[in-house]
Amino acid sequence: MTTPRILDGIAIAGQIKTEVAAEVEALKAQGIAPGLAVILVGEVPASQIYVRSKVKTCGELGIFSEMITPPESITTDEMLDLVDDLNERDDIDGILIQLPLPRHVNTKLLLEAVNPDKDVDGFHPINVGRLQSGQPGLAPCTPAGIMEILRRSDIPVAGQNAVVIGRSDIVGKPAAMMLLNSSATVTICHSKTRDLAKVTREADILVAAIGRAGFVTPGMVKPGSTLIDVGINRITDPIEVEKFFPNEPDRAATFAKRGSVVVGDIDPAAFAHSGAYTPVPGGVGALTIAMLMHNTVTAAKLRRGLATGKK
Ligand code: NAP
Repeated sequence: MTTPRILDGIAIAGQIKTEVAAEVEALKAQGIAPGLAVILVGEVPASQIYVRSKVKTCGELGIFSEMITPPESITTDEMLDLVDDLNERDDIDGILIQLPLPRHVNTKLLLEAVNPDKDVDGFHPINVGRLQSGQPGLAPCTPAGIMEILRRSDIPVAGQNAVVIGRSDIVGKPAAMMLLNSSATVTICHSKTRDLAKVTREADILVAAIGRAGFVTPGMVKPGSTLIDVGINRITDPIEVEKFFPNEPDRAATFAKRGSVVVGDIDPAAFAHSGAYTPVPGGVGALTIAMLMHNTVTAAKLRRGLATGKK
């Protein structure tokens, strides 16, 4: 068995951010300053952390950002007015509504109210359609990050058997569509799939986007395949920590300090059977903000009819 290659999401995200910063500079030389508006409703601590880190990255790359923080009590109509204003503003190229929204707010209506050309999350049905029909548009950040990892790691996709476990609108389905657009032979699995292990063992590229700690076991993996682990699961049970990370003093130290550690949807023991894999953390998750920045610059260009340099 050869040693699997670790696909370093942090390094790849760094490359993308450097490229985005250079593009921002070139746009500024043409008098265009890309701008991102982030709407963060209420006081959800996890969302606050994500949004802060998005705004910080904008600053690092020279992208103008504006954070709008309405109270938890905001109504759907008030949110729609906010989105309308941002749709109209010329200094805003991207609009991001941080999810989840309070339960009384109609999330679907709001996501559809965002001008598709400013929809940097790629969730609007128009962008879903553009992705499906191979037209230029804005693609969801996490699956777009997966494709960047594969491309920049020289992992062939065309003609390969790709299996995606998970069919969510934000990860599973768009990841499958992007793999198909890159000419993989794609199978999408979900909770009703029969004999899942039989399907996954055929995968040259296996994407796990399930939300269950260590769900993909070594016996479900084709030897030498590429494993893309999208899952981010926080575990707090010391027995589980020991099971997934038996000989990892670093994880044990993190657990002792924080009372939890993160594990993906793939049992780390399965990585030894792969040819290459994305670690958790430091794999797919590291790409999401970089792709958001990339999408903001793409939106700024698309709105002005400039070439996007899409590969
Ligand atoms: P989701 O909306 O809950 O979807 C989970 C999918 O997994 C569903 O399609 C579900 O099937 C499938 N599934 C559940 N149990 C299964 C089983 N036993 N066998 C086969 N399939 C099963 O989750 P998501 O939003 O796509 O997120 C998935 C994971 O990725 C989570 O851990 C999340 O935290 C992580 N994530 C990471 C990033 C990032 O890295 N930046 C971004 C987004 C999500 P059904 O459709 O049949 O229910």
